[in-house]
Amino acid sequence: MRCRPSGSTSASIALVGEAPGAEEEAAGLPFIGASGHELDRMLKDAGLVREALFITNVSHERPPNNEIEAWISDRAKAPDSSFIRYRNRWVKPFIKEECERLYGELRSVQPHVVIALGNTPLWALCPNDSVAKWRGSHLVSDAIPGLKVIPTYHPAFVLRNYQTRAITVQDLRRAKRESLTPLSTAPKRSFGIKPSFQEARGWLEGLLTRFAKGPTDFTCDLEIYRREILCVGIGLSASSAFCIPFLFTGGWYWTPEEHTEMVSLLRSVLLHPNAQVINQNLSFDIQYLFWRFFMRPRAHFDTMIAQNVLFAGMPKDLAFLASMYCDHYVYWKDDGKFWQHFVDDERIWTYNCLDCTYTFEVYEKQQAALKSAGLVEPMAFQMRTFENLMGMMLRGVRVADENRSALRGEIESLINRLHEEVSYLAGRGLTGPKGDFSPKQLSEFFYTTLAIRAQHNREGKVTCDDEALKKIARKNLWLRPLTDRINMIRSYGTAIDVCNKRTDSDHRWRTAYNVAGTSTYRLSSSENPLDSGLNLQNLTTGRDILK
Ligand code: URA
Repeated sequence: MRCRPSGSTSASIALVGEAPGAEEEAAGLPFIGASGHELDRMLKDAGLVREALFITNVSHERPPNNEIEAWISDRAKAPDSSFIRYRNRWVKPFIKEECERLYGELRSVQPHVVIALGNTPLWALCPNDSVAKWRGSHLVSDAIPGLKVIPTYHPAFVLRNYQTRAITVQDLRRAKRESLTPLSTAPKRSFGIKPSFQEARGWLEGLLTRFAKGPTDFTCDLEIYRREILCVGIGLSASSAFCIPFLFTGGWYWTPEEHTEMVSLLRSVLLHPNAQVINQNLSFDIQYLFWRFFMRPRAHFDTMIAQNVLFAGMPKDLAFLASMYCDHYVYWKDDGKFWQHFVDDERIWTYNCLDCTYTFEVYEKQQAALKSAGLVEPMAFQMRTFENLMGMMLRGVRVADENRSALRGEIESLINRLHEEVSYLAGRGLTGPKGDFSPKQLSEFFYTTLAIRAQHNREGKVTCDDEALKKIARKNLWLRPLTDRINMIRSYGTAIDVCNKRTDSDHRWRTAYNVAGTSTYRLSSSENPLDSGLNLQNLTTGRDILK
């Protein structure tokens, strides 16, 4: 049966899904099956009442096997000659009619905001391409100009990926707030870009005047191109920021004298005792400020660390944080990708200011969240840890370069000996053409030739990784000499990587440590943004290797 919309025709919120499933088709009503039940629960959690909403779908017909791709295709070529081009996709002609019917329904209900559940309604209403990217954004429909649209995950997707549920509920809460008015609630942001020398100096001196009155919060964010600082953004509030450029498409922005004065003024700002520097992933920015401008600001608050304290295990990137915390949000990170081509200075500077203002608002909201969750002290502890680590990161670890090639030689001969032993024990070689253990050959050997019960990873795929081999050895003690050797060869391979990693000119590695790198609060470590160091936590003392 063809479906019809349900709910209130005078609703201030319209919910648009994709197409009915079997249960909806049988009843002729949208969202009454499993997805509908989850939707009801999420609406309730967001403080919304289903009956007060208008609920409809892009298509009122159920697609074959519930697969909308049979009717709407994003492939470059038309699947067959029955498809027509419509809104940048190939569609069956009746889908165009269904979209027009949808627009008619929305024009007659005149909701203040539409919630697009999943990619299909997002495509039908807006020029934006994917919910994964745009969810939670305040978008405006191009199909019905002026109509506010907030995309979020489809409830069927939520059921399959339950970690997205809390995010979806937050998007629904946003839609509830937006339903109070049909008007846009976009804040007026004031950005200072492309300054004259006097202007830039005035901005920084203005900040110093504020510091004279007491501790002052501000965000500070760098944009980097080919390992050089392009510009330094300073956010003064959730709606105001300025950007001091250093390098632009025309070369150095300032004369050499101006450059020196600007860096020195920036140093007075960032190193001032009353400067409370806030940013997302400060570790990155501080390392660049240190290695390029020779200044080392103290970190006051890192929004990425705060996210890990508040919601360990959830995403931590700035766009995600802004989508969860900021009153008005539109995904803007695509803009960050364009300067790989480095052509549009004003866009870079505006992007930099946007980062600063979004971070400022996230900071304000996180402070309140930390307080209400009783997590102010754990956050302070994490920031102290960060400060201590930053000292270690900048100082680096002295490496005895002169011993490394001898050590590499010893480890390599050890690995060769172990490989011979593995071949002897297995009765055949288990490595691929590059000398690494090939997952295919290992699986074949253990699970087919030896008929051992296969081990699976978290994604359910058959695996012979370190953990799997340890489990195999626990259940089949006789295989331990073999599995231990395979695992030893693998970990000695890491030791070879360590031996091969070059040091800085002062024979030091400057590894980056991340206090927000894991959901268990174990530190993670990696190469730093300037390509020095490596995961130093993999490093062995050597004793276990060479015994
Ligand atoms: N999925 C949808 O997109 N719409 C429905 O009505 C039911 C499931």
